Amino acid sequence: MSEVILRAENLKKYYPIRSGVLRRTVGHVQAVDGVSFDLHAGETLGVVGESGCGKSTLGRLLMRLEEPTEGSLQFDGVNVYEQDRRAMRKIRRDIQIVFQDPYTSLNPRKTVADIIGEPFEIHPDVVPKGGRKARVQELMELVGLSPEHVNRYPHQFSGGQRQRIGIARGIALNPKVLVCDEPVSALDVSVQAQVVNVMERLQKELGLAYVFIAHDLSVVRHISDRVAVMYLGRIVELGTEEEIYERPTHPYTQALLSAVPVPDPTKRGKRNEIKLEGDVPSPADPPSGCRFHTRCRLAQPKCSQDDPALIERPDPSGTHPSACHFVEESIVTATRPHA
Ligand code: SF4
Repeated sequence: MSEVILRAENLKKYYPIRSGVLRRTVGHVQAVDGVSFDLHAGETLGVVGESGCGKSTLGRLLMRLEEPTEGSLQFDGVNVYEQDRRAMRKIRRDIQIVFQDPYTSLNPRKTVADIIGEPFEIHPDVVPKGGRKARVQELMELVGLSPEHVNRYPHQFSGGQRQRIGIARGIALNPKVLVCDEPVSALDVSVQAQVVNVMERLQKELGLAYVFIAHDLSVVRHISDRVAVMYLGRIVELGTEEEIYERPTHPYTQALLSAVPVPDPTKRGKRNEIKLEGDVPSPADPPSGCRFHTRCRLAQPKCSQDDPALIERPDPSGTHPSACHFVEESIVTATRPHA
C-alpha cells in the first residue's frame, strides 16, 4: 500500500452543553469520540453512518475548521493542530474540501470564474494574476464543464454542474487530499453517478486521496478502497471495500447493509433483513459499554458493561478491525447481505 498521507489518532470533538443564567457547562455532546485511521496517498476512504454519527464533524476536524478536544492529525508527518496560521495556510493548500449542497455552497452573486478562482486570491503565489482565467478554464475542462461558460452565474447551471464547479474549486490548488462531505447526496441518482465518475477520473489523473463522507452505502462502495463505519462518534468497523460489503462482522454494519435496496430481483429473496430498532441514542448521553447495545440484536449482559475496542477480529477469510465482543456470533447469524 502507498505511503500514509493523513493519520488521525484518537480524535475527539466534544461540544459543551450550557444551561441556566450563568450558562454553566452541564454536559458534553460527544460528536467524535476517539477516531483513529490512516489515509494513504491516492486512496479513497469512505466514511459511512446514519445522520448524527459524527461523520461531518470528523470532516471538519480533518480540515481544521474545528479544533479537536483531544487527539492529533498528522499530515505528511506534521501535527496539523500544532501549526500556526502561516504554516496552516500551506497545509490548507494540500487538504481541500467539497461541500454537500451545490445549491447553497456557491455564492449566487459570483461568476464561475470568481468561484473557482477564489483559492488563488487566498494563495496568490500559486497562479500569477494574468494566468488565472486560463487556469480556471482548464479546471472547468478537467471536471467536464464548458470553458466558454466561465462568466456565468451558479443559477445558470444544473445541480450536477454546480457540484462540478465545487470540485473544480476543491482541486484548484492541486491538493493531495480532498475531503468530500456528502458530495452527491443533494443530486438525482443519475447525476450522482456522473459526478462520482468525474471524481474517480480526477483521482487517477491527479493522484488525489479522498475522504468520502456519505450515508449512501451504494455510492460509498462504488468509489471506496476502504470503508470506515461510524456509530455515535466512533468507528465500529474498518476494512477494505470487499471486507465491509462481503464479510461485515459488526452487527451495525450488517444491519445497515441489509437495508440497502437490491436491484437484482433474484437476489432479494436471499436477503436476511436486519431491522435496526429505535433511534440513535443522544451523543450527549451515550449508552454504557458498547454504544450500539440498545439497538443490537445480539446484545448480551457483557455488552452494556464492557466497551469493545476496535481491534482485528477473525472473519471467514482473514481479519479486519471491528468493535464487537461477539463477532463470531454475528457472522453466523447474518446472511451475507448484498449491496
Ligand atoms: Fe452488539 Fe454486543 Fe457486539 Fe455491541 S458488543 S455490537 S452490543 S454484540
